[in-house]
Amino acid sequence: MVENHGQELEQMVEEQIRQRGIHNARVLEVMRHVPRQRFVPKEQAAFAFMDGPLPIGSSQTISQPYIVALMTSLLQLKEDETVLEIGTGSGYQAAILSRLCRTVHTVEFIHLLAETSRKHLADLGFDNVEVHEGDGTLGWPDAAPYDGIMITAAAPEVPGPLLEQLADGGRLVIPIGGHWGQTLQLWEKTGDLYDHEDILPVVFVPLRGIHGWKADEW
Ligand code: SAH
Repeated sequence: MVENHGQELEQMVEEQIRQRGIHNARVLEVMRHVPRQRFVPKEQAAFAFMDGPLPIGSSQTISQPYIVALMTSLLQLKEDETVLEIGTGSGYQAAILSRLCRTVHTVEFIHLLAETSRKHLADLGFDNVEVHEGDGTLGWPDAAPYDGIMITAAAPEVPGPLLEQLADGGRLVIPIGGHWGQTLQLWEKTGDLYDHEDILPVVFVPLRGIHGWKADEW
């Protein structure tokens, strides 16, 4: 039987997200309905509504609900848009994005996580999400340009291919910094110009790959 945790989700959104200043009605509505508990390992399900990140295996984590909501709202998505996420992890963030746009392409480095997230997304009917396996610092050129790009792992700088794959008027969110901590940045592209602003301090796992952190640098 599939348990319905509507009340816990409602409370999570109210106390951890809305009361902290995120008022985008579409984002709040989606966060109330996507079952976070179904994207974490069974032994973590009881903690799914808590105010923090959780382990999802392979030394990776699913972000705190507030950070998921904040990063999502920064993209200001519209229904007909195409989005790229780097770092699929559990698939939860991709599921949230998929309810706010037309198509989500998400790229994951670790085979096991790509497989598990693909299964969870399919079981729950998130059929406008395509999970690709590979080095997301190269983006996913086949479906570019993207109206929104979200990187859910910390990078030394914004990988060049991702900036190139951003549409005119597009927005990109990324944590920039090293293992000591990072700053969440919002980038916007207008014509050939890129502008960015710092949003707040965050802590993410490292972005690996050609334009990411090397294991001995992190
Ligand atoms: N968005 C995820 C959480 C991401 S954790 C969620 O909702 O659960 C960060 C993820 O980025 C990890 O799964 C890690 O394996 C992945 N990752 C790190 N470097 C990567 C790269 N170069 N390309 C694709 N994925 C990468």
